[in-house]
Amino acid sequence: MHIILFGAPGVGKGTQAEKISADYRIPQISTGEMLREAVANNTELGKKAKLLMETGQLVPDNIILGIVEDRILKDDCKNGFILDGFPRTIPQAEGLSKLLKKHSLPEFKCLEIAVPDEQIIERLMARGRADDTEEIIRNRLKVYNDQTAPVRSYYQNDGAFVSIDGNKSIDDVYNEIKIHLS
Ligand code: AMP
Repeated sequence: MHIILFGAPGVGKGTQAEKISADYRIPQISTGEMLREAVANNTELGKKAKLLMETGQLVPDNIILGIVEDRILKDDCKNGFILDGFPRTIPQAEGLSKLLKKHSLPEFKCLEIAVPDEQIIERLMARGRADDTEEIIRNRLKVYNDQTAPVRSYYQNDGAFVSIDGNKSIDDVYNEIKIHLS
């Protein structure tokens, strides 16, 4: 099972990805988590990503595509994986399509979790991560609407795209996801 979880920051992608990962025994690949780890370990990648992340901007596509390619070639990805927070730009989506061909991976199911903007702001403010101040949140939503929302149409014309109402309880959202995965 190869899944893209798509949606704005704060819609619950990470929470749902964890549940899918546990039930279907496939790893959750969160580019945000990988980058936060790199920042915490002060690696070369972390040094490049730190300021961009602190201001809610995106890390360059070529860097992201490199870390995703390395990650999806690991053994635990053989039966599939969940992409959480990637692809976030059209070039990333195009790069992913190339990786599919290059490594003969199957097509992805793209599941969008949709939540209205005002609710996203409330949820992120409540989450309280270092990059969750109101100003940075608004910037991340702007970046999302400018750069990531177009990725939706990249997958939307595809039969494997489905949009799920994320304005519900965690369990209700997850039950709907499961219907689309069966
Ligand atoms: P996230 O945890 O997915 O919200 O990601 C946190 C931050 O990491 C984002 O605000 C970006 O700065 C960076 N980031 C994560 N994933 C990507 C990606 N696919 N492309 C570019 N930047 C990313």
